[in-house]
Amino acid sequence: MTKQELALEIIDRLKKEYPDADCTLDYDQAWKLLVSVRLAAQCTDARVNVVVEKLYEKYPDVKALAAAPVEDIEAIVKPCGLGHSKARDISACMKVLEEKYDGNVPTTFDELLALPGVGRKSANLIMGDVFGKPAIVTDTHCIRLVNRMGLVDGIKDPKRVEMALWKLIPPEEGSDFCHRLVNHGREVCTARTKPYCEKCCLQDICVKNGVEE
Ligand code: SF4
Repeated sequence: MTKQELALEIIDRLKKEYPDADCTLDYDQAWKLLVSVRLAAQCTDARVNVVVEKLYEKYPDVKALAAAPVEDIEAIVKPCGLGHSKARDISACMKVLEEKYDGNVPTTFDELLALPGVGRKSANLIMGDVFGKPAIVTDTHCIRLVNRMGLVDGIKDPKRVEMALWKLIPPEEGSDFCHRLVNHGREVCTARTKPYCEKCCLQDICVKNGVEE
């Protein structure tokens, strides 16, 4: 089986296993996903979803959050960890949205990438989830799983994994595929325990099936 064939088979099986492929960060407006994705670094999505409620209660739109004192944002987002740098990035990012984009989130990858605190992973997430465009989100689950499955060989650098996956994954499948990798990584192909290969829907095609790391 070529890597392309393997990728298509994995996409197919994960679709059946996880029919819903949604982002687990709650948001109803694009700018809120930008905030949440920054807060989600080294924090669980569940905790981010609770913390942002308090943040939006006090600062309900881009204009209000752009004008908020950084220390105040930091006090609210502290439970997500790395409070100071996250608050600084969120404040700077909201100021750019307000001043340069009239309070809106820009719609191209390069513009997103140029925003404070936004890396390739976040820019891809916004492109896929908010704008429905092709996207490959190389978070920790994605990188671990595609290496184990044999879609990439020993590549850990997020950008290199992303570039390798663009060659294997049909563009329109990328965003949902990455969400499903998160589901599979949390439930079956876990990081902190030995992966549960015996109950995995990919065990007969996965390179790593049962092999100790
Ligand atoms: S067979 Fe094992 S290593 Fe491979 S994807 Fe499934 S759980 Fe992960």
